[in-house]
Amino acid sequence: MRTPIMAGNWKMYKTVTQTIEYFDKFLPLVENVQSREIVICPPYLSLSAALQKTQDTSIRIGAQNLHQVKEGAYTGEVSAPMLKETGVEFVIIGHSERRQHFCETDQFILEKTRAALASGLLPIVCVGEHLDQRENGQTDAVLTEQFAHGCGGLTPEEFSQVVLAYEPVWAIGTGRTATPEIAQDAHLHLRNLVANHYGQQIADATRILYGGSVKPDNIKGLMAQPDIDGGLVGGAS
Ligand code: PEP
Repeated sequence: MRTPIMAGNWKMYKTVTQTIEYFDKFLPLVENVQSREIVICPPYLSLSAALQKTQDTSIRIGAQNLHQVKEGAYTGEVSAPMLKETGVEFVIIGHSERRQHFCETDQFILEKTRAALASGLLPIVCVGEHLDQRENGQTDAVLTEQFAHGCGGLTPEEFSQVVLAYEPVWAIGTGRTATPEIAQDAHLHLRNLVANHYGQQIADATRILYGGSVKPDNIKGLMAQPDIDGGLVGGAS
């Protein structure tokens, strides 16, 4: 019912030349993949090259961030209409690295999500707890709070375009993956939050990706869980 998404977040890796080389090798490997959507999110400067390389394929391209206003005196920033015009379809919002290094708050993330949707981009909105929060039994409370103050502020019509990503911060780039059971518990909690807020129909249709040290040897176990609808893959992508 929910088509899984395998999304690659390249973070601040790969030049334009390396992007072209990557797709030359990657495209033949996935040309027969139909049961999943593949989304690749390179750095801004590589978006055009990625779009060009994938134009006759089913691979979709996403950005890793955007600014919430359309245009203005925001040196160094890129807006949703600018991304949309290039042909980008997805955008990652609220990644924990942006929350941590660029002080992004849930309110900020809500504004960015609204801006993405207003321009016709599909947001992949990230949530997830820190290690101390997990160890103190606060995971569900943290996810509830991030949801309530973040994309829980959208209208049902807006939210139905959103892809959620559960990314426990302690698992990102650490090699320490959540077990399939731990991830499933968090995904179920998120789906229940969506159901309580937007109704069961929207909850059943919402794709929730898992991210955090996903690798070829752990993805199968994660994907076998009923509420895990794909992966947001950093390092291994
Ligand atoms: C990410 O960047 O979203 C991520 C999950 O990174 P990694 O797969 O390297 O943990």
